Amino acid sequence: MMIVMQANASEDDVQAVLQAVQRHGFQPHVSRGEERVVIGVVGEARRAEPDAFLRLPGVARVVPLSRPYKLASREFHPQDRQVRVGSVKIGGGASVVFIAGPCSVESRSQLLETAHAVKEAGAHMLRGGAFKPRTSPYSFQGLGERGLELLAEAREATGLPVVTEVMSPELVPLVARYADMLQIGARNMQNYALLRAAGASGKPILLKRGMSAKLDELLLAAEYILSTGNENVVLCERGIRTFETATRNTTDINAVPALKERTSLPVIVDPSHSTGHWAYVAPVARAAVAAGADGLIVEVHPRPEEALSDGAQSLKPERFARLVEEARAIAAVLSR
Ligand code: PEP
Ligand code: MN
Repeated sequence: MMIVMQANASEDDVQAVLQAVQRHGFQPHVSRGEERVVIGVVGEARRAEPDAFLRLPGVARVVPLSRPYKLASREFHPQDRQVRVGSVKIGGGASVVFIAGPCSVESRSQLLETAHAVKEAGAHMLRGGAFKPRTSPYSFQGLGERGLELLAEAREATGLPVVTEVMSPELVPLVARYADMLQIGARNMQNYALLRAAGASGKPILLKRGMSAKLDELLLAAEYILSTGNENVVLCERGIRTFETATRNTTDINAVPALKERTSLPVIVDPSHSTGHWAYVAPVARAAVAAGADGLIVEVHPRPEEALSDGAQSLKPERFARLVEEARAIAAVLSR
């Protein structure tokens, strides 16, 4: 449930409610809106009694939350939330954000060349995997810490903040030392120890939807991160498994409006992993922006035929530049 304070409630009133929530064995999560303070009451399955809070000074209403996730829900936080990564703003009315870069960091020259090219094309952030979740143990597994060093060097050279995947809780401190944003990959969406550890790092989190995950499950995964006190979560639709084999995955465009109804967290789309084919990336990217996505994450490689991972779905920089122009034109039609 959530406790909605009166618009004129004092800070003492708010503090008294927070103490009462804790006395009843729940964790309070405060959201300070422009008009009023809302306090989320979350805890284990035991039921909170609304009456215990209704009579406290400054309390306007006590509202039950109908969804299984609480802090992630739009009921708890009605206004669109904005996540900042360095100076980049994602969601909350900001213009469409472009995150681009190679699937994997392969070498210094490959990464720097790509980073400069995507910046030139209009990207706001750089992506690149240093620790790669590969389906086969015999595929390229990433450069590890050397890859992180190269990402940091590319950030210095271009000014683009960096997002990269972290695959296990033990690696969170290392990856957080280099990255501006931590990516939780589709295969780890329900790795709850990882969600908690990544959340506790305090870094903004890019949470990718599991390939067989329902939207409620994605939002409950986000809830794990939010419940650590880290409010900076961006959700990513990256395609789901269906019976269709013409594409690597099926882009669930429906997820964009369906998520936006359920949560005020920013939602971005990955047209690279969701299609698996470079020729489909731009059309699906355009559809994602038209559907209301707050951003795109796109794989770009200067020579896709030489890529050590995901070359088939990687765009050459020129094609990415055209995609940015088209996506911006679509956003403009929608006054975004
Ligand atoms: C990636 O972004 O390179 C990646 C492995 O994505 P996903 O977890 O969505 O498969
Ligand atoms: Mn990839």
